[in-house]
Parts: sequence; structure tokens; C-alpha cells
Amino acid sequence: MANKMGKCVHCLKDGVELTSDHMFPKAWYPDATPKDLEKWQIPSCLECNQHYGRLETDLIGRIALTLDVKNTASAGLAEKALRAIDPAAGRNEGDAAARDARAKKILRDLVKGEPIANANVVPGLDERWGRPVEEQLAIKIPDGSFEAMTEKLVRGLVYREDHAFIEPMLVQEVLTFLRVNGKVYSREPGLEIRRAILDGGDVYEVTFWQQFKTYATVPKRKSPEAPERASSRGALNWSEFTP
Ligand SMILES: [Zn+2]
Repeated sequence: MANKMGKCVHCLKDGVELTSDHMFPKAWYPDATPKDLEKWQIPSCLECNQHYGRLETDLIGRIALTLDVKNTASAGLAEKALRAIDPAAGRNEGDAAARDARAKKILRDLVKGEPIANANVVPGLDERWGRPVEEQLAIKIPDGSFEAMTEKLVRGLVYREDHAFIEPMLVQEVLTFLRVNGKVYSREPGLEIRRAILDGGDVYEVTFWQQFKTYATVPKRKSPEAPERASSRGALNWSEFTP
């Protein structure tokens, strides 16, 4: 059966042959997932689907080894990750070798018995066995993996809920708006804050030491009784990137 043609949620290429991509990867659902739960799928080009497939397999193989085995929310994932690197579980010689290679790859990236700066530890995935530092093992999460997964989930949800694509144009428009209409507050040369007030809330661009920027949005709270002042504004969302 031929696949449908259309637009890829991830790379936004239009007129491409679409495949169905699991928004939350199929293998990431824990054992406790209800059998009849719909596993959300989104349209993706084959290239993006395969790219995410590789990223997700590698990532879950690492994260799962750090998950709490007693937590039902992740039940079965650690066991599955251990089987994936166990040559004895191989279906044949080639499969056993692949499992062995995966184990060696994770082992190569392992940090053992060295103090790990707290800033580098994913909050929630820190040492849970109370081992002394010299016995601790840390598993490396490749740079950008979590960011890529977060982007996928946000793009997927916006597609499912709003039937919309997140265009890079929108990001570019907000940045242009900031540059043109944003008011600058600075303590040069260390700090510059550019603020643009939009209907939905405010956008901020913070430049540190003229070297890197972070962005934040502060949406306006809709509640009519809230007074129009700082306390009436909603939660702060931030992201960090250099456009
Ligand atoms: Zn794509």
C-alpha cells in the first residue's frame, strides 16, 4: 500500500511520502501502559522517522539503566535495556554480536568513580543507590538528545491538538519583532535584556557578556480579576539557544 503524501511534522518538508511516527516512542511505553491506550502517531517523512528511531533506541538504552526499577511508571524499561545489551539474549550469532557491540558502546561512555558536577546530572536521574562516589557509575547522554525529543513531543502535540505545524518562520518573526520593537535594558557590557510586549504575553531576549543569549516568554494570565501588574503574569518559560 502506498503511503500518503503530505507534510512532515519534524522537518516541515511538504509533498513527501509520509510514514507514521510514534510521538512518544513505542518502546518507551512502560509495562504498566493500559493495553487499549492509543499510542499517538504523527506523520513523518521516512528520513526523520529513521533519524528519530536511531536517536530513541540509543537514548532509551542509556536512560533506562538509570530509571527506578520499583516505579510502575517505568516498569520493564530497565530490564528491556539490560536485555538489549546482553549477548546471551541474542536470537542468533549476529544478534548476539549486535547486543555485545551496544554494551561496549555504552561502557565506553561510562564515567566511573569520578565526581560528577551536579550541573551535568539530569535532575531526577541522579544517584539513587546511595553508593559512595568511587563506586558510582554515570551514563553519558549524547548532547542534544533530550532537546531533540522535547522538540519532537512539542511538534507532535501541536500537530495533534491544533492540527498545526510549528514553522521556523514563527520563531524568526518573534526574533525580528524583538529586534525591531523590543525595548533594551542594559547593564553594559555584561548584561542586555530586550523585552517585547505582545498580546499573549512578553518575550525576552537576554544576552550575557555579549556572547550567548537565552529566551523567555511570560504569558499573560487570562483571569479577569487579576490586576495588570507583575503578579498577574503567568509562569516563566525559558529556553536556551543561539539563533
Ligand atoms: Zn521529515
